[in-house]
Amino acid sequence: MVLRNSDGSRTSGLVVDPSAELVQDAMAWCAQHGLVYGAQNPADPCALVHAPFALTPVPFPRRAFERAVAASRPFNVMIDRVARDEGYLTSVLEAAARGDAEFTGRLMEVYKEEMQRRQRDGTNFPERSLVLTRSDYMLHAPTSTMLQVELNTIASSFGCLSTLVGGLHRFILGKAGVDRATIEQVLPVNTSMKVLVDGLAAGVEAHGHADRTMVMVVQPDEQNSFDQQWLQFQLWDRYGVRTVRKTLREIQEEGAVDAASGDLRIGGRVVGLVYFRAGYTPSDYHGDAEWDARRLIERSNATKCPTVAMQLAGSKKVQQDLAKPGVVERFSESAEAAALMRQCFAGLWGLDELDTDTSAQQAVRDAIEDPDAFVLKPQREGGGNNLYGTELRDTLVDGTKDVSDLVLMQKILPPSNTSVLVRRGKYEALETLSELGIYGVLLRVGEEVTMNEEAGMLVRTKPEVSAEGGVAAGFAVLDSVQLV
Ligand code: ADP
Ligand code: MG
Repeated sequence: MVLRNSDGSRTSGLVVDPSAELVQDAMAWCAQHGLVYGAQNPADPCALVHAPFALTPVPFPRRAFERAVAASRPFNVMIDRVARDEGYLTSVLEAAARGDAEFTGRLMEVYKEEMQRRQRDGTNFPERSLVLTRSDYMLHAPTSTMLQVELNTIASSFGCLSTLVGGLHRFILGKAGVDRATIEQVLPVNTSMKVLVDGLAAGVEAHGHADRTMVMVVQPDEQNSFDQQWLQFQLWDRYGVRTVRKTLREIQEEGAVDAASGDLRIGGRVVGLVYFRAGYTPSDYHGDAEWDARRLIERSNATKCPTVAMQLAGSKKVQQDLAKPGVVERFSESAEAAALMRQCFAGLWGLDELDTDTSAQQAVRDAIEDPDAFVLKPQREGGGNNLYGTELRDTLVDGTKDVSDLVLMQKILPPSNTSVLVRRGKYEALETLSELGIYGVLLRVGEEVTMNEEAGMLVRTKPEVSAEGGVAAGFAVLDSVQLV
């Protein structure tokens, strides 16, 4: 194995020449440390395969990385304040709820209903709100700063597998001859598996019932549950917290809320925490049953991760509004915190504001002229929904469709790196782009924030040629950071 400085034009760092032997060893490491996926082989339902990974960590400038990490706790506090501001949420999302009646509109309905119910009937328990955030960034090459792609407030995945990738990369670099001291200097420790589990356990603890149960809301056809199962096992091993996996439909069928106490009961157990790994996309709601489940959970006294309000606070429309002058500042705990966050904002414009906002009008003209400098985003999560290039331009010039739920965003221009991607046992060196996610945990009980932590990171690397690349979809791979 030869170590050399990458002669890639933009960054340097530790790279390792791939070989069949090294890749074999890496795959064995994955198998023996649980960095695996279901192989989705109908002929062999038990078959597992290593999670797709990059052979060596991707270089990020230390300063830019540290800023992203430092912004984590400010983002947690800020988004919690947004989620608590009924007037703000309702007014910012008004047009998006109309333009996207199918999803944002229905979430808003559930939210308003519950707020009205509380005002009418009151509650005899404090609101217990847990959020596992992930703020996603790409390095913007022209300025060498991290710009935020989005702030996720629901179902952020890969927290556990991503900690394992850090271990895999330490193994690979060590095997290739890099000494331990160098490895520890350039590879930041990734605490995501530990701190996310601490957060979930704190959410159960905040509820306090002796049943110590978390319901994980999952999709009926979940294929890649291994990341989720890591959370379950860790919760059990470290905290004695039991996980029950349920779909929204099952919750509607089996769940009940005790009118007096607010206790949510499912299968004979009182639920301390409801943790959503589904429910972020309209296809998770086949009909009224799933929406009823959401209502049931919302009015219970269980800790919610997240509440409907927090899910709405994580929408693209809110992200765009926060970037306007004075808005993120209004929700920040200090001017310093606000400045840290504001540095991360790319250009963002709301198409619901075209009548009044001259900068949005200009941005639309620029985007029609040069669509490749922009991304157009609907109010959706989970990848594969954004519009680019000619599709973006066509949507802007069309003029017949309601576009008030769309957000126009400056395209971030990350540097490319040569990475060796290992997917299903095959490896190839490709020009790639990487995205860094910084996890955070915030727990609030009533008025009091009882936990606010930065919670490690996720790096996803995708071939330069794909506009978006889900890891689960098989395009992107899991990666980690080396600081340069
Ligand atoms: P989702 O909620 O579907 O994950 P994102 O906003 O994260 O939506 O966009 C999906 C992907 O599209 C991102 O992971 C990134 O690769 C790409 N993308 C999104 N916004 C931008 C942007 N402003 N510049 C460049 N690429 C972007
Ligand atoms: Mg995303």
